[in-house]
Amino acid sequence: MIVINGGYHEGGGQIVRTAVGLSALTGKEIRIDNIRAKRPKPGLSFQHVCAVNAVAQMCSARTKGVFVGSKSMEFLPGKYAGLKKIKVKIPTAGSIGLVLQPLIIAALGVKEKIIIEIEGGASFGKWAPPVTYIQNVFCRAISAFGCDVKVEVLRHGFYPKGGGLTHVEIDMRDLKRADLVSFCENAGVSGVSVASHDLERRDVARRQARSAKKIIHDAGVFERAPIDTRYVNSVSAGSGIVLRIGGNMFLGASSVGEVGKRAEDVGGDAAFELIEEYKMKACVDKYLCDQLIPFLAICGGSIKTSEITKHTETNIWVVEKFMELAFCVNIENKIVSLRT
Ligand code: AMP
Repeated sequence: MIVINGGYHEGGGQIVRTAVGLSALTGKEIRIDNIRAKRPKPGLSFQHVCAVNAVAQMCSARTKGVFVGSKSMEFLPGKYAGLKKIKVKIPTAGSIGLVLQPLIIAALGVKEKIIIEIEGGASFGKWAPPVTYIQNVFCRAISAFGCDVKVEVLRHGFYPKGGGLTHVEIDMRDLKRADLVSFCENAGVSGVSVASHDLERRDVARRQARSAKKIIHDAGVFERAPIDTRYVNSVSAGSGIVLRIGGNMFLGASSVGEVGKRAEDVGGDAAFELIEEYKMKACVDKYLCDQLIPFLAICGGSIKTSEITKHTETNIWVVEKFMELAFCVNIENKIVSLRT
């Protein structure tokens, strides 16, 4: 059994998600102690319990200690259950994007199409990738590794009620190596600005978009920044914006609306973050880098990112516990690759 210190370095939920996903993929049993020791409320939250149970369903795993607040858990994977459809319920505003993370890692070993339906959860949440980021940045990047993951938002969910509805189709039959290292000066920016219908009379989605466009334009880096503005049905009020730089690059930035924060600041925060990412002349943004580490390990390749974060270092540490490989991190050039 692999014993993992859940409080290591970043000490957050990512250690649980990556370890559980890789346990299902490799068939190796794990125990995680000190779960989320570096977070204000340590232990598993609803979101992690939902994610672990969903992966357990996928690979017929036996689990111990999987409940809200638990600081130690075991995951004993079985064989892929052959389920064509996996149903996941998130009764809180837990992040849909983060619940998907371990499921997508576990699916790397499944050679048939899988459908996942997620009922509940937040499509836009704090400290987490919005589902629109997962669609436009993460899924686009993993498609370079041959991972075909399509995410459809049937209903958005916002903090505090969640209530999203998401349909996901995964096909991992054509995995391949990818080198995400090139930077291109002339790539285009685009975005999606979303708000619930009840915020339409305050013009929230349009104000977020307008403010982001102005900041991007004033920075003098891009001529145009088309941002799709949408008002959507949801259980509770909320808003968010996701911007991305396309071409061969995978740079994203997002911001989430909250009470007391002006729509202009929501759009502005995402725009400033995107401009910072662009200035670093990387191919992969700093969040995406940590999320791609398991894909790099399974498929091979290299990544040039804007910042080597603690999340990236921690995810490398987790992956190396499962696989006979070592990563090479070039701190100066911010390139992550596999040591040969
Ligand atoms: P943890 O804090 O350990 O639960 O991990 C958080 C995960 O969410 C990491 O994989 C981060 O890269 C990801 N994440 C956090 N904020 C963002 C964001 N604004 N955009 C994209 N991904 C994010």
